[in-house]
Amino acid sequence: MSIVRDPAGRRLAVPEVEPPAADIAALRAFLDRHERVFVLTGAGCSTESGIPDYRGLDGAWKRQRPIEYQPFVRDPVMRARYWARSLIGWRSFGRAEPNDAHRALAEAERRGLVGLLVTQNVDGLHQAAGSRRVVDLHGRLDRVACLACRQTTGRAGWQQHLSTLNRDWVGLDAPVAPDGDADLDGLDFSTFVVPACPRCGGVVKPDVVFFGENVPPWRHTQATAALSQSDAMLVVGSSLMVHSGYRYALAAARLGLPIAAVNLGRTRADHLLTLKLAAPAGEALTAVLAA
Ligand SMILES: [Zn+2]
Repeated sequence: MSIVRDPAGRRLAVPEVEPPAADIAALRAFLDRHERVFVLTGAGCSTESGIPDYRGLDGAWKRQRPIEYQPFVRDPVMRARYWARSLIGWRSFGRAEPNDAHRALAEAERRGLVGLLVTQNVDGLHQAAGSRRVVDLHGRLDRVACLACRQTTGRAGWQQHLSTLNRDWVGLDAPVAPDGDADLDGLDFSTFVVPACPRCGGVVKPDVVFFGENVPPWRHTQATAALSQSDAMLVVGSSLMVHSGYRYALAAARLGLPIAAVNLGRTRADHLLTLKLAAPAGEALTAVLAA
């Protein structure tokens, strides 16, 4: 294990698995052989930036399930709980920086080795590393959106707003969770003040796709169009356990495209893969570019 620090300075253990040189060479040949490689990334890309993953190596949940759409929309206390946890979690999440995996994928784009990158992550770290052709399948946590009038605003201003209305909560601390919230629990969340949309008084939600919510059709269309014009697919740091990601592997297989994956642990698409590197994304992709 190697130890990295999350943005709040806490220690995180990252398994160190030296990818075999033959696998590195095989993935490099895969990228060189195919002209248009569709990339799908997941949480495993961001763990080295200190953003924890939902799932263990076996693909099973390793923590409490994240909030779902319906409870958030219907229940003011659940909403207050979400935003209280988010107020604390954002301090770390909002400071996360790209790691070697993001940098390698941005470099691969510059060199023309990969095409459109579709990410299941909501942290914006691919763009921060310099990737330009990115679809944020599940949205971005650095924006909030009103469910009624659809106005979106930046998370930074919203954070300020939450902090001002909830002075007693600002000093709390808890470990950061994958959604950019924090594992804050056992508190009376009904005392947490959640501001309404300043424009229309509607419910404000982070501009991300919650569990139980659909990916906006235009994003799926954009991703599907790119996939249909690709000649291979590369999965990085995703177990593909969530259908919104897995369906691209199924679609690639239907199109007869070869699929390669860099992922520690099992993926739901293991039976569809041409090539798999069971290694941390940053280390493996850096080696692939250097090959
Ligand atoms: Zn509104």
